[in-house]
Amino acid sequence: MAGFGLLVGVIFPFAVIVLGVQPTIALRAKFFAGALVAGVTVGLVNFTITRVVVGARLHQLSARMQYVGATLQQATFSGDWSKCSPEACQLLVDSNDELGDAAGSFNRLLESLAASREIELAIKSVGDSLTGHLAFDELVSTVLDQYMTHAMAGAGAVVVERDGKLSVDAQRNFIGDLLADQQALRKRSITSVEIPGDLTVDGVVISFRPREVLVVPAWFGGQPLGGVILAFSENIHPNTSRLLEAFQASTAVALNNALTHERFQRLATLDPLTEAYNRRFGLNRLNEEFSRSTRTGVPLGVLSLDLDHFKRINDTYGHLAGDKVLRSVARDMFSSMRSGDILVRTGGEEFLLLLPGAGHNDVATLGERIRRATEMNKIDVGVAEVTVTISLGALSYYGVGAQDPEELLSKADQAMYVSKESGRNRLTVTRLQTPIHS
Ligand code: GH3
Ligand code: MG
Ligand code: MG
Repeated sequence: MAGFGLLVGVIFPFAVIVLGVQPTIALRAKFFAGALVAGVTVGLVNFTITRVVVGARLHQLSARMQYVGATLQQATFSGDWSKCSPEACQLLVDSNDELGDAAGSFNRLLESLAASREIELAIKSVGDSLTGHLAFDELVSTVLDQYMTHAMAGAGAVVVERDGKLSVDAQRNFIGDLLADQQALRKRSITSVEIPGDLTVDGVVISFRPREVLVVPAWFGGQPLGGVILAFSENIHPNTSRLLEAFQASTAVALNNALTHERFQRLATLDPLTEAYNRRFGLNRLNEEFSRSTRTGVPLGVLSLDLDHFKRINDTYGHLAGDKVLRSVARDMFSSMRSGDILVRTGGEEFLLLLPGAGHNDVATLGERIRRATEMNKIDVGVAEVTVTISLGALSYYGVGAQDPEELLSKADQAMYVSKESGRNRLTVTRLQTPIHS
């Protein structure tokens, strides 16, 4: 800058000659020296102002950038981003000039960095919680919590498609039946759906009509698995859809794994002919329910059921007809049971029904209902319509009177044999000591 001032000082006398000043004046040593000194002085003053004002601010900008660069590098490895929040690292914007613009741009860069870091953390948090659960119920509950937290939704549900049917497997703050939009779940991209006029969404603390409902579908291997439905009381944040898109693939993988796990679990526990639980699983459940009842005194109803003269059906109509009868009788039992009751196929034409919470009267009522439903049922086996009867033994365990689950089972079987011996197609309720015919 001083050099530039010197140059201007040298040129100045010649410039004034061009403008009409006498060369004898302009080229006089004093005038020439004065022009040089003035040029150099202006150059030096400019240099000083630039250094003090502009240089200090550029220095601050560069120092901040260096600090942010080093802190970010450290935070990447330590995971502690608290030292580089936008508030901690941003620059003061104190002018309207290019330096102010540069500081503002720097601050916006920091904000974008913080937002992308937040998204990265959200994706990691969702990924971690998805990989932590294989059991289906836990997984869908976690998925819903994560989605609602990160999207700041007021209500939500996880809807799962099994064999073409949708079921709501987890929901928060929806009351009544949730209207699951199958069309939106069959699309691959996130859709904002119209809100049906009669849909009400009720928060635990707040009660609101949703402004918007988002459907986030989950697809795996070209198959729709269902998805997450979120309802918002406020306008959705512009980044929300992009964030949810980032969750989609990992959610679909986790849902698919959990569904496969659920399917295998079912196959391992169910009898394929009747879809009642198999003997191994049923006896495990008996052990669990026995322990619970012993601990709490809450009654456990036990019913032993055996089809009467079933061999004759096989002998008369064939084994396939016999299978059909077994399936039909099991269906009758299922429709008589409450949810929470456990039907077990313990052997060929023998079943066990566990009724948690059922006392003497309950087992007697249910046993009689099953007996009547079975004798009334006309089963079409192709060549004929057949009827079958059933003999039952029932008891209720109130936490005392049996040493172990095997004793309960053998007492219920004994009651069932009493029914057989006294003419079949009947129910015997025992009170663990004295059998009572009904
Ligand atoms: P009771 O009234 O004394 O119980 O006579 P029952 O004929 O029912 O009893 P039994 O134990 O003599 O015969 C049971 C029959 O059940 C024999 C067997 O062939 C048949 N069975 C067992 N498992 C199956 C099955 O999976 N399918 C078919 N069709 N029959 C089966
Ligand atoms: Mg039998
Ligand atoms: Mg039998």
